[in-house]
Formats: sequence, structure tokens, C-alpha cells
Amino acid sequence: MAACNAHYYATRDPLGVGGDFTTAPEIDQMFGEMVGACLADCWHRAGAPENAIYAELGPGRGTLAADALRVIGAGVEAHLVETSPALREAQQTRVPGATFHAAIEQLPPRPLLLVANEFLDALPVRQWIGDEQRLIMLQGEMLAFTANGMIVENSPVREAAVAAIAAHLVRHGGVALLIDYGHARSAPGDTLQAVRGHRFADPLADPGEQDLTAHVDFEAVADTARNTGAAVTALAPQGEWLTRIGIVERAETLVHANPDRASDIGSALNRLTATDQMGELFKVIALHSPDWPAPAGFE
Ligand code: SAH
Repeated sequence: MAACNAHYYATRDPLGVGGDFTTAPEIDQMFGEMVGACLADCWHRAGAPENAIYAELGPGRGTLAADALRVIGAGVEAHLVETSPALREAQQTRVPGATFHAAIEQLPPRPLLLVANEFLDALPVRQWIGDEQRLIMLQGEMLAFTANGMIVENSPVREAAVAAIAAHLVRHGGVALLIDYGHARSAPGDTLQAVRGHRFADPLADPGEQDLTAHVDFEAVADTARNTGAAVTALAPQGEWLTRIGIVERAETLVHANPDRASDIGSALNRLTATDQMGELFKVIALHSPDWPAPAGFE
């Protein structure tokens, strides 16, 4: 999964109508603005430490960073953790002056205003049937699973990423918003999926040519962060969180300023927040330094 996704992201920009999938920041500027407002509010309530930086994991085209930074203020440095050369180029265009890093551990020792949208779901999972790990084998010319049965997933790579974020927050201060699709409680189930051209595909077909993801187990995320010493908020459905922090009011302001875009803005708001759209399946959790206040929108 790691090797497939490394090739996949290194060789294309997969986002948008002409690509394989569309993410929340690509739907409308309001998404990144709300993320920026939430981070900026938390930073101010923490006493606005001057050396805080904006950090993002897997920033895609850089759209979320550009929208969030417009709200946070241009004086804050942007540090982007990205491995894909193709996407770094797109990010550089939208966030001139950004500093790139290959890993979370390389972020500078300063307080973080961090966001990761659809990053954790791209990290590799393991699948288990009882004590046996389900592997992938070559069967003739085709890839096949070694076993079938009731599957339990875990993700040491994802846990290591969460632990690295939490450790940074504990040592240097800051807040992290983690947004992804997934479930609130650990539970059995095969959630590995492939998407290509905005449709589900066979995860074992065309290795490295389609987007592979797995649902994020937010219970495991919260446990890992807490065990590392970070404070963790409740998990909020994306629609509720965005509504609590004021996306409806933001939409009204945008409509007022651009009356001819009213119907586009209305449908973007619906896609981001409605329970039958991205509002319920996608969830948000925040980790923060015990010295920082909890960000808004989680209770
Ligand atoms: N956050 C963006 C893009 C999500 S796609 C958005 O919401 O539009 C996943 C992103 O994570 C891509 O930018 C991809 O290149 C990056 N990525 C995937 N695996 C990574 C890894 N191991 N390290 C750093 N970045 C990674």
C-alpha cells in the first residue's frame, strides 16, 4: 500500500474533476478558511506565541494552505510535509515561500498550527484474520489476498505519524486538526479501498495507478495521542464542526459579496456539511499541547 501510493502520488496530481477524487478544500474556499479561523482563534487564546508556524501534512494542491493562511495572516511561516515532487510543485505555486519537509519529525522545534486533511487515510494498514496477517501474493499474473475471513485492521505507520505530531505538540506547543473519513470506535472490518476516476475500483488492480485508502480508526488515533501526552478533543462529524465554528455565516457573507455565485456557494456548503454528503462520514479530531486551550467546535 505504501509503495503503491508513493508511486501514485509521485507521478500525478490526482485531485479534482479531471482526476480520481475531490477533497473538501477543492470544493470551496470556505473549508480552508474555517480551518484557518479555528487555528488562528486557538493560537490567540494560547497567547499568540510569535514563533508559531502553519504546518500541513499531505497538502495536495496547496489549496487548503492558501485559504487557511489568508485567514491566519501572511506573517506566519508555512511548513509543508509532502513526499510527492509533482504535488510539491503545485503547493509551491499556491504557497510561495513554503518550506518543504519529507517527514513530521523534520518540522522545526516551534509551536504548530497543524492540519492534515485526507492524509492519515493514505497511510498503509495491515489486515489480520485472527493472529494471521493477510498478505498479498502473485497468483499467475494477478495479485490476490492470501486469506479471507473476518478482518481486523491496524496501522503502525499511522500510529507513528500521530505519535510524532503529539510528541511535537507536547514538547513545543500547538494544536493539530486531523480530518478524515473513518470511525469513532475500533471495530472489525475490511476498509481498504481503491478509487479511480471518481469510482471505486479493485484495490489489487493496477498497483500504483489508483488511490488506495483505508478508514481512519479515530479511537486508535486518540489513544496514541493521549499515550504520548497530548490533550485530545472529542471527535466531531465534519458537518457539525464546520457549522459550530461558523461556516453558514461565512457562506452568507460570501453570497452577499458575490450574489451571482449564490447557488454555487449553497451547493458547496451542502456538499461539505450535509449528512448524506461529506458532513457525517468525514470526522474531525484535534490534538493540542496540554498548555494550549482546546480549539473551538468540538463540544
Ligand atoms: N490534503 C489534500 C490532499 C489529500 S491526498 C487535500 O485535502 O486536498 C493525500 C496527500 O498526502 C497528497 O498530498 C500526498 O502526496 C500526501 N502523502 C501521501 N502519503 C504521504 C507520506 N507518507 N508522507 C507525506 N505525504 C504523503
